Amino acid sequence: MNQLLENLIGILDDGLIVYDNNFLIIYFNKGVEEMLNIRAQDIIGKSFTLEEAQKSDWKLLSPIIYSSLAPTVIRLSEVGEDPQIVKVILENPYKEFEVRTSQVLDDKKQPVLFIKLIKNKTRESALLKSKSDFITVAAHQLRTPATAVNWSLENLKKDESLNASVKESIDVGYRASQNLLKIINDLLNVVQIEEGRFDYKMQKINLVEFLDKLLLEALLVAKEYKVNLYFDKALESVFVSADPDRLGLAVSNLIDNAVKYNISGGQVVVSLKIKDNFVEVVVRDTGVGIPEEDMPQIFTKFFRAKNIIKSSVAGSGLGLYLVKNIITEHGGKIWLESVINRGSVFYFTLPLVK
Ligand code: ADP
Repeated sequence: MNQLLENLIGILDDGLIVYDNNFLIIYFNKGVEEMLNIRAQDIIGKSFTLEEAQKSDWKLLSPIIYSSLAPTVIRLSEVGEDPQIVKVILENPYKEFEVRTSQVLDDKKQPVLFIKLIKNKTRESALLKSKSDFITVAAHQLRTPATAVNWSLENLKKDESLNASVKESIDVGYRASQNLLKIINDLLNVVQIEEGRFDYKMQKINLVEFLDKLLLEALLVAKEYKVNLYFDKALESVFVSADPDRLGLAVSNLIDNAVKYNISGGQVVVSLKIKDNFVEVVVRDTGVGIPEEDMPQIFTKFFRAKNIIKSSVAGSGLGLYLVKNIITEHGGKIWLESVINRGSVFYFTLPLVK
């Protein structure tokens, strides 16, 4: 191998293995030697057949070359895509490797060489897991007292005998406790998404009826913010396959944002139309808008736009991350248009069902 290339590959932290179509190991860099605790000289030139791989000397290497030998394998790329990417998880001791396999083809498009790039993800995944566990425990602990406070304030709100200033204080407290509960629930949902535990129970629903009910609930909040909320119901019925709780969470988030990032006396209009095999739902507001430079990051976790950070509107920056996940899991797409100080339009699609 060319010396420059050899030096370049040699300094990689990631592991690199090259073998031919008879599993003859041709190249093994320093990264793999350290990661898999094997010396290159013991393996280069060896034909790493399935029989050889089953010997106990190669406990770490075998499941990387033959992923079927690993206790757990998670495919991260589509079938037939190049490179093929898999996550290989080993037990006792726990190890997690991301393995990318690329093929070198001959003139007849037959693979002659296989190149594997290996990243050790063990530490990163342990850190992520302990972060998720911490968030889950903290959020669960906070949810019980926050629910109790919310419930007490909700009851107090109903008391007609209270004077106006006490009532106003209770309203402020009630809104804050509602925000707190939303942030706690968003955190729990985000952890579930990241751990792949945010499951969906799909059923056929009439989206028009579904939106009608959601808008009715959102009217109360819109009234508090002095925002006019309308449903431009151009269709009687549109059927989609959805998890009503999850989709409800996504749409309520979009409507809540359109209301809370609006101006007093502003407007929010929800409408829908059919486009080929999809229904497109539009949430249009006359609010503060989103700066152009912030738009590309708007669906990322914890992101809040510059114009909002300065304002007093509470939020966690988790809502749109959840919304995008939910819409994508329903087979749809989401995007937006916005003009600062004019308003924003969020669009999402869902596949139609008969
Ligand atoms: P949160 O509202 O809790 O901050 P979201 O993830 O729902 O979190 O929204 C992320 C950010 O996107 C908001 O903080 C705000 O800057 C911006 N945003 C979302 N919807 C709108 C909207 N309709 N109008 C203006 N800005 C919006």
